[in-house]
Amino acid sequence: MMIQQGISLQEYNTFGIDAQCNTALFIESKDDVHNHRHALSKAIILGGGSNILLTKSQYDIVAINQISHIEICKENREDVIVSIGSGKNWHETVLWAIDHHLGGIENLSLIPGTVGAGPIQNIGAYGCELKDVLVGLDFYDFDLQAWRYMSVSDCHLGYRDSIFKHELKNKGFIGTVYLRLTKEGYHQVNTQYSALQSYLSEKNIDIPNIEEVSNAVIAVRQSKLPNWKELGNAGSFFKNPVIHCHQLQHLQEDYPKIPSYPIDTQTAKVPAAWLIQECGFKGVKRGAVGCYKYQPLVIVNHGGGSGEDVINLKNEIQIAVYDRFQIQLQPEVTIL
Ligand SMILES: Cc1cc2nc3c(=O)[nH]c(=O)nc-3n(C[C@H](O)[C@H](O)[C@H](O)COP(=O)(O)OP(=O)(O)OC[C@H]3O[C@@H](n4cnc5c(N)ncnc54)[C@H](O)[C@@H]3O)c2cc1C
Repeated sequence: MMIQQGISLQEYNTFGIDAQCNTALFIESKDDVHNHRHALSKAIILGGGSNILLTKSQYDIVAINQISHIEICKENREDVIVSIGSGKNWHETVLWAIDHHLGGIENLSLIPGTVGAGPIQNIGAYGCELKDVLVGLDFYDFDLQAWRYMSVSDCHLGYRDSIFKHELKNKGFIGTVYLRLTKEGYHQVNTQYSALQSYLSEKNIDIPNIEEVSNAVIAVRQSKLPNWKELGNAGSFFKNPVIHCHQLQHLQEDYPKIPSYPIDTQTAKVPAAWLIQECGFKGVKRGAVGCYKYQPLVIVNHGGGSGEDVINLKNEIQIAVYDRFQIQLQPEVTIL
């Protein structure tokens, strides 16, 4: 394990915020986790830094996860179980799966960050979520000072949510993630999203394979989201709010065009992007930060912005959306 003192975290968060840290621990193995458990229990654990906002100028200990292995550990006729080091880059994992003709995560192509952070917010995109393929994971429990296996049901995965955001927040380190992926002949491709369907029909692809679905997802994402390497951001800043159907009916009287997706008989999801856009935030700039010009749900750092600048804009958006729609937006991004 490598240790560095006094480094900038700018290249370790996709917002590109220039905070300092006293000690950076570069974790390379599960043994490193056990051997440095006391320091880690006080550290901020970072994967790719693509779902966090650094709001302080100085942090004490930061652990940067670089545990990176990938192998098939079980196999039967229809599918395989893959064991993946939590520090492995997520998109590289998707490409590895496609290369090995393994399906199930192609719709999650190009999501930044590491495999180990996937279960924390149950990453999802284009009709798929990690919970569809997660079998379980190895969790280093700081209280027990030992590794323990957690099955997918132990992880309590929900919409951008899991036990790691609640009871187990800051309580341990995710070390290995186990995914069930389908073999050739057993893939179930999912192209329900209209943007994917339009891309595939433009290319005259009627029955896409997993590689073609992945390419479609990559192309659609690149056309909609800013590249964080060029314009700092952490993807969608807020979750899509879930509201009661009575509130929705009430809002529909004033805003007949409000989009919504039923969750069950009582509740519906409303796109946060629509609410923010209605409040006039698309493309706004507040000093060095702003809302992305094509997708106001993404807060961007035009360069030199601080965590505080982002928080001020976040607060302004939350107040405006609440005043207009009486809906409280919740951040998807973890604020540190
Ligand atoms: C351009 C862009 C597009 C995005 N699109 C999507 C999308 O479509 N869908 C989606 O779901 N998300 C999306 N995201 C958000 C983000 O990529 C995911 O949440 C991703 O899983 C975060 O991974 P990370 O390694 O960067 O986590 P980090 O940001 O490093 O960490 C996130 C949280 O997890 C904790 N953590 C990380 N690793 C571990 C570990 N091994 N053990 C314990 N705790 C840990 C951290 O302490 C932190 O609280 C997007 C982000 C960007 C920048």
